Amino acid sequence: MTSRVLLILSVLMCCCKPETLKIGAIFDIEAEVKEKAFQLAIDAVNTKRTGDERYLEGLVEYVPCDNPFKAMVATCRLVSNGVVAILGPSSQDNAQMVQTICDDKDVPLLDARWVGRPKGPTISFYPHQGVLTRVYMEVLDAWNFQDFVVLYENDDSLKRMGELLKGYDSKEHQIVVRQLDKYQNGNYRPTLKEVWRSGATHFVLDCSTEILEEVLLQAQQVGLMTNKQFYFITNLDMHTLNLTPFQYAETNITGMRFINPDTQQIRTMGFELYKNEINKDIHLSFIAAWKLQLETALIFDAVTMFGEALSNLPKNFASPILDCQSAQTWMYGTTLINLIKGIKYPGLTGLIQFDTTGFRSAFGLEIIELKEGGITRTGNWSYSEGLNISREYPPAPPPPVEGSLVNKTFVVITCLTEPYGMRKESSVPLHGNERYEGFGIDLIAELSKELGFNYTFIIREDKKNGEYDETTNEWNGMIGDVINKKADLAITDLTITSEREAAVDFTTTFMSLGISILYQKPKKAPPSFFSFADPFAVGVWKLLAAAFFGVSIALFLLGRISPSEWHNPYPCIDEPEYLVNQLSLRNCFWFMTGSLMQQGSEIAPIAISTRMVAGMWWFFTLIMVSSYTANLAAFLTTESPDRPFKDVFELADVAEKKGIQFGAKINGSTEKFFRDSKHIEAYQKIYQYMKDHEDDVMVKDNNLGVVKAETKNYAFFMETTSIEYETQRRCSLTSVGNSLDEKGYGIAMRKNSPYRRALSTTILKLHEEGVIAKLKRKWWEERRGGGQCPDEDEKSTEATPLNLKNVGGVFWVTIIGTLLSCVMVLIELSLHIFKRSLLTKQSFKLMLMEELRFYFKTSGMVKPVFHNHSGGSSDKTESRLGQRRPYGFICDEHLTQS
Ligand code: GLU
Repeated sequence: MTSRVLLILSVLMCCCKPETLKIGAIFDIEAEVKEKAFQLAIDAVNTKRTGDERYLEGLVEYVPCDNPFKAMVATCRLVSNGVVAILGPSSQDNAQMVQTICDDKDVPLLDARWVGRPKGPTISFYPHQGVLTRVYMEVLDAWNFQDFVVLYENDDSLKRMGELLKGYDSKEHQIVVRQLDKYQNGNYRPTLKEVWRSGATHFVLDCSTEILEEVLLQAQQVGLMTNKQFYFITNLDMHTLNLTPFQYAETNITGMRFINPDTQQIRTMGFELYKNEINKDIHLSFIAAWKLQLETALIFDAVTMFGEALSNLPKNFASPILDCQSAQTWMYGTTLINLIKGIKYPGLTGLIQFDTTGFRSAFGLEIIELKEGGITRTGNWSYSEGLNISREYPPAPPPPVEGSLVNKTFVVITCLTEPYGMRKESSVPLHGNERYEGFGIDLIAELSKELGFNYTFIIREDKKNGEYDETTNEWNGMIGDVINKKADLAITDLTITSEREAAVDFTTTFMSLGISILYQKPKKAPPSFFSFADPFAVGVWKLLAAAFFGVSIALFLLGRISPSEWHNPYPCIDEPEYLVNQLSLRNCFWFMTGSLMQQGSEIAPIAISTRMVAGMWWFFTLIMVSSYTANLAAFLTTESPDRPFKDVFELADVAEKKGIQFGAKINGSTEKFFRDSKHIEAYQKIYQYMKDHEDDVMVKDNNLGVVKAETKNYAFFMETTSIEYETQRRCSLTSVGNSLDEKGYGIAMRKNSPYRRALSTTILKLHEEGVIAKLKRKWWEERRGGGQCPDEDEKSTEATPLNLKNVGGVFWVTIIGTLLSCVMVLIELSLHIFKRSLLTKQSFKLMLMEELRFYFKTSGMVKPVFHNHSGGSSDKTESRLGQRRPYGFICDEHLTQS
């Protein structure tokens, strides 16, 4: 443990040294100035001692910041050394530990740092936060803070700001609270940039002295230190910092201070504290007083006031010798605290007195402001009189006057971007506004007709709409021209973006659009080798093949079972030895092939069931062949476009493989869209590509991009309105895919312009009256070669293969027909066997079994004739049953008999 104990003795104790009282102090490492203030205070107390008054002796402990264990050990050591009070450390965790022990032992704790709510035997010399909040509100009111941003550093500052926010009605005030640098290790720029983008101008800044200068510096870097911003700084040591870099920015930086460095008392104190350094650098003697921070001054005040209180105690009261291990407390602790709280003491920080609740409420403050000459006092605040400002309040920003535009003259800036602004083609020299024409020019003319203002057009030759330059912290392009008062209004294809909206005001949108892709129209795809198969989808072809095999096999089986299909090979012989069947498997396939190809075959089914199957198949082929023919005709007459990509996602995937380059207008809102679309991987990929190949793919203006898209394998990301304009004139180009976003163009003007409302209202009126639609038709379709390219609805002319949804029905009809045929063949067979069983007087079942056995056992297509050997009369049964002669077949009787 690195601690050192210093014994400080009063100079008056040189000879007959009376008894001393000890006062302890715990400092964070490197708090030498505070320790010096402590010593000076003890010296000051002892100097005043006379006679037998007891002198003060200081015991100092140093503890590393935020090390409560060491703080505990140091406090216990002080307590066991008999201190009558302890001056607490600055760091939060150490202070809490010291407070716990003092609370336990009833030893007064003198606190010079900010504490939310002092507890136990703590005497906080820091001004009461409740009263400070009152001061903040009075100053903010005086400075006309209506809507503002609160920037805070940590939990303590949030507590302070929480108190402030309670005083504001959220319905009347828009207050945004932002923490500075949560995780970025001293980089406050991301937060400040966000605040800058929001357009906020009034800030309440609550942070420690250690970071205050850096925060202001970074605010300056992000553009938050101009004549538009107002800062109210709650830190009471603001004046001790070197704020010279900010004093010329014309930013209103207001703060407060507790101690005035120009008073003699403070100067002396500063001199004493920095004596050693002044010896080395004489220049320091002038600013030493300005370096004195509130906490140091409060340490001095706390100790001197405590010394004063001690002299009011009975002379013989005993110093406490306490032990942290025991439950012992000091009996005079509370008495001493009450004594201190009861007196009034004029200190370096003004008159110190405590209210009934033990807070230092009645105090006074100086209101200070940073000006070109440095920190200047602009007023003061006192508990009894409140705020008293000695200079005029900064005038409140003038309420936006709904100014009439009649007879006002505006400078309107535009770019020569087709069709918003173009140079007029004329054989005679033109002057003034006459030189230009286009949609934007006409729109301004319409607005001027309605509102009665005059205007002069100026041209931005480099066609830069406006981008924020992070290195110079300035806007360029037309937005920059408006901000820098080169022009009053800006009109062109100027997209309203949040970033721009923070810097300038926009009217309501006069045109809506999104981002899409301009690319060459797809060319006809070369016919494929198997293009004849295109009319049917692959699934249909597969089912067709399955149907062919299925129905052929069904015909074969039915033909075999059906008795009618077995016929006499020699029709003129009445009693053949065997019967034959034409529906062999081969013949069935051939029959099906013949009908599918619309050619027919020699084979003709005879039985009802087989004819039914054949009929179903013919119906099936009729529909399928007709559908095929019709769709083939469609395929032959339409062109199938060869599209390398159909939308932005496919472009991102295939661009490299297919050698397609893509880009956008450099520094335009389209590029910014891809830059800011952090959540869509494809967009990030596109942005990365555009950044990596900036020189090759990014163009300075739309025209260059369009020419590139027309002549190279290049996809140009462009706004839909401009794409529409180009595709009306360049028929080889088209728009690919849907819009990636939705936004609009507006007319830009300076922030808080009083004319915004009137202009916006008139734009709405022009929309409602159809004037803007008429202007759009004029400049897109009618003038300068518009309407050249016919509108093609590509989708409707493209042929698509028939799928199962289109021809599914016919498959079902065929399946059901085949199943019905199966039922039919069973009926046929049963009837046949029944008749035979009647004739031969044999059992039906026996005959059926015999018949079926034949069908499944024998594979040949020849069937021996069944002879009834039990009775001669029925020998001809088989041939008689249904073996009719074929139609038209006449037998020669003579031959028949033989
Ligand atoms: N309208 C865009 C802008 O205002 C320019 C064109 C583009 O980025 O596509 O920046």
